[in-house]
Amino acid sequence: MTERVQKEMSLYEKLNILSDAAKYDVACTSSGVDRKGDGTGMGNCSKSGICHSFSADGRCISLLKILFTNECIYDCKYCINRSSNDVVRASFTPEEICELTMEFYRRNYIEGLFLSSGILKSPDYTMELIYSALYKLRREYNFQGYIHVKAIPGADERLIRLTGFLADRMSVNIELPTAESLRLLAPHKSRKNILKPMRLVQERTKENRQEITMYKYAPRFVPAGQSTQMIIGATPETDYQILSVAEALYKKFDLKRVFYSAFVPVNRDCALPVLKEEGPPLLREHRLYQADWLLRYYHFEANELLDENNPNFNVLLDPKCCWALKHLECFPVEVNRADYRMLLRVPGIGYKSASRIVKARRLGKLNFDDLKKMGVVLKRAVYFITCDGKMMYPVRIEEDYITRNLLNTGERIPEGGGMTYRQLTLFDDMNMQSVHSEGSELL
Ligand code: SF4
Repeated sequence: MTERVQKEMSLYEKLNILSDAAKYDVACTSSGVDRKGDGTGMGNCSKSGICHSFSADGRCISLLKILFTNECIYDCKYCINRSSNDVVRASFTPEEICELTMEFYRRNYIEGLFLSSGILKSPDYTMELIYSALYKLRREYNFQGYIHVKAIPGADERLIRLTGFLADRMSVNIELPTAESLRLLAPHKSRKNILKPMRLVQERTKENRQEITMYKYAPRFVPAGQSTQMIIGATPETDYQILSVAEALYKKFDLKRVFYSAFVPVNRDCALPVLKEEGPPLLREHRLYQADWLLRYYHFEANELLDENNPNFNVLLDPKCCWALKHLECFPVEVNRADYRMLLRVPGIGYKSASRIVKARRLGKLNFDDLKKMGVVLKRAVYFITCDGKMMYPVRIEEDYITRNLLNTGERIPEGGGMTYRQLTLFDDMNMQSVHSEGSELL
């Protein structure tokens, strides 16, 4: 089965190549799974995440993030590993994956493994190699740490199912927001083939939940759920289209996370956009992550945040502030009376502080000092709330006035891109450079 797997290259050389080749995959943050080792093997899996990244609570976390192979029979135009590229190719053996994971784990370098892969020979062939690596790791090396693995579209369902019983999380990358873009940039892939394993994981997870309620020791299938990743800015879809796709994935496939990855040009290809000097659309990616939080934790719908007439996020203000400014008729909100869902919609109030408010006000009326202690960001919230009928300062509930003041409170807008502060029309569509940040409670 493994005749194309490199034998002559050293493990260190392979690691260099295959960890570098994996860096474009962003779908690898915190799992939310909380599973203790049983004491018989190596490792356990803790709640706050995996990967060389930042978890939702801001903690730096680590995992061994590698490709099984960077050989690939497909030719996705945006990918460094596409078949038409002349790059050094390497592949691990299942044994090598196990050795690396165990060695890194023993040395306390990692908390788990994130394993993705190019398509070596065929989807089945690749999935079988991945399955075999995970099987060895779990059963022979007794590794009980976290494993996030890719399900390969087009691979035998039985193999995907078996692999799911060895992994904590699985993901299938949707790659691009629409089937049309996929045809254009990843002609060997199809939306149907990508959604099929997603559906499989979803259904098997549901069945597994029932098995677990019936039999306490039933094996767990993908306990940390499934996620996916979309490339942003390689094709012309608007933020509204992208967010609507994400919303549909959450609702129809029970995904735990959709990851957004700003397009980074690694190939020259006439089908790809040419980025101007501002570079990859990182601020756009950041706004999409913020909006994604609004969908998952704040009960917003995509069509409340954007629509056909305003299809892109404003780069200067976060999506929640933009929504509030367009719905000033809902404000000010009285924090001592407003229901939880309305509190969630107030800029400056996150889901944790909203819960604290709801609990604390049972014991007495809250004032602005109390809110501050509960984590409310008053420099944003003051325009939208009253405490016991009074605003903190006399403010005008007026779009231009609040917008100007919110901008002056200095949301961290990255420098560069020739950007200047100005009175804006909300939902201006402007490009500018940013650092990627994702995660913490959206206030
Ligand atoms: S399938 Fe496409 S995206 Fe994945 S490694 Fe191959 S060329 Fe790259």
